[in-house]
Amino acid sequence: MTDKNMTDILVSTRSSMPSLEEYTNEIKILWESHWLSNNGLLVQKFKQQMKDYLGVENLELLVNGHLSLETALAGMNLTGEVITTPFTFVSTTNAIVRNGLTPVFCDINRDDFNIDVDKIEALITDKTTAIVPVHIYGNPCDVKRIDEIAKKHNLKVVYDAAQAFGVTIDGESIVKYGDASIFSLHAAKVFHTIEGGAIIYKDKSLKDLYEGVPSYATIMDEDRDHIGFNAKMNEFQAAMGICNLRHVDDELDMRRAVYDRYKENFKDIEGIDMVPDKEGVVKSHPYLPVIVHSEKHGANRDEILEKLIEGNVYAGKYFAPLISETPYYKKRFGEQDLPNAKYVEANILALPIFSSMRLEDVDRTCKIIKETAKK
Ligand SMILES: *Cc1c(COP(=O)(O)O)cnc(C)c1O
Repeated sequence: MTDKNMTDILVSTRSSMPSLEEYTNEIKILWESHWLSNNGLLVQKFKQQMKDYLGVENLELLVNGHLSLETALAGMNLTGEVITTPFTFVSTTNAIVRNGLTPVFCDINRDDFNIDVDKIEALITDKTTAIVPVHIYGNPCDVKRIDEIAKKHNLKVVYDAAQAFGVTIDGESIVKYGDASIFSLHAAKVFHTIEGGAIIYKDKSLKDLYEGVPSYATIMDEDRDHIGFNAKMNEFQAAMGICNLRHVDDELDMRRAVYDRYKENFKDIEGIDMVPDKEGVVKSHPYLPVIVHSEKHGANRDEILEKLIEGNVYAGKYFAPLISETPYYKKRFGEQDLPNAKYVEANILALPIFSSMRLEDVDRTCKIIKETAKK
C-alpha cells in the first residue's frame, strides 16, 4: 500500500494521544514509588483534576465504563424493573441484567435517538425502581423531563453518559443530572485513559460504597450488602488521563470544526438528517450520526455505505442491531414494539469524525453521499 492510499483511508474514529515525551514524563515517578495501583498518587491527582474540570464533588475512577455502570447501579439498591433504551451499546443492558434487574425497553426519538420521554410513564409498573437512559452519541436526553418523571414516581435515574464527556447544558456538565452518571474513558471515546471509567453521583453517603466495592470492599462494615470485586483504575491509566485532560478542550474544538464542516455540506444534500442542535447544549461529537431518509434521498443507507467503502471511507451502522433484538435478549425478554428504534436502526449511518480529520476529507465524504442522491 502506498503512502497516498494510507492517508486516503478514513475510519470512523481515531484515539487521541499525547506526545510520547509528555506521557513518559508523567509516568517517571512510578519508577521511584513502585506504587502502580490501589489509589496511587496519579489516580489521586487525576481524580481531583476530573472533579475540577467537571465542577462536581463526588466522583470515583474505575478501570472501565462498563464496571462503572454496574457499580453505579449496585449502589442504588434497585429491584425489579428498570426502564432503558434499546438503542445503545450492549454494555448498558448487560450492566442492568448483571445486577439482577429486568430491562424494560422504551422506544426512542427519531431525531436524536434518545429515550422518548413521552413513552416512559406508560411503562412504569409497581416493580419499576429506576430509569437508565443513555446520552447516545453524546446527544443529551431530555434530562429535565426525565427528572420530573423520576421524582413523580419515586424512581432513581442513572445515566449511561459513556459517550458524553465534554457535553454541557447551560454551561454545566451533563453529569450533574440524575442520581448518578457514568463515563467511559475507553480509547475509542473523545477523552480517554486507554481503558477507564468514572462514576459521578449526588448522594455523598455513597462514597464508601463506590470507592470500596470496586476494590473488594474488604475494609467496610456498613457495606456487607454488596459483594466487592476488582475494578480499580491503575497509575498508567491515570497518567494517560492527566495528559489527555491537558489537551481535551483543543480536542473538542477540533471535533466541533469537523462537525461544522459536515453541517455546511449537508445543507444541500436532500434526505440526510443530522441530529438537530439544541438551545444551551454544547456537544462533543464522539460520532457523526446521520439518518438516511431513502424516499427523499434516493439511495438507502446500505447503498450509501457501499459507496463510501468503495471510496475508502469506513462509516458504520452503529448501534445495530437493537439490544432488544440480539438473540440472547430477544429470547429472554421477548419481541418488543419499538417502531422508532427500528426505523433508526435501519437508516442510521455513523460517519468518520476525529480531531485530526482534515476538512477536505469531510468534503470528500459528503461528495460521495451527494452523488448517491437521485438526480
Ligand atoms: C463505551 C460504552 C460503554 C462501555 O464503556 P467501556 O469503557 O468500554 O467499558 C457503555 N455504554 C456505552 C453507551 C458506551 O458507548
